Amino acid sequence: MSEKINKVKIDQEKCIGCGACSMYAPEAFGFDMERGKSFVKEGAENTDPEKIKEAASSCPVQAISIE
Ligand code: SF4
Repeated sequence: MSEKINKVKIDQEKCIGCGACSMYAPEAFGFDMERGKSFVKEGAENTDPEKIKEAASSCPVQAISIE
């Protein structure tokens, strides 16, 4: 079983708005059309950790951090 995730963050400065994270884990990441950046949804910690990790590793600028 994978470890529980306590906190997920997106560095808004780094995010280039590619949308990959919200594609891999739509339960955890949303896309803000107006700002052209992704954000962490409420309750993201409860999403399958594997999905969050997959999303984090898909980020081209390593903007997603997991604790
Ligand atoms: S994958 Fe990374 S760069 Fe792309 S939208 Fe998500 S946080 Fe931003």
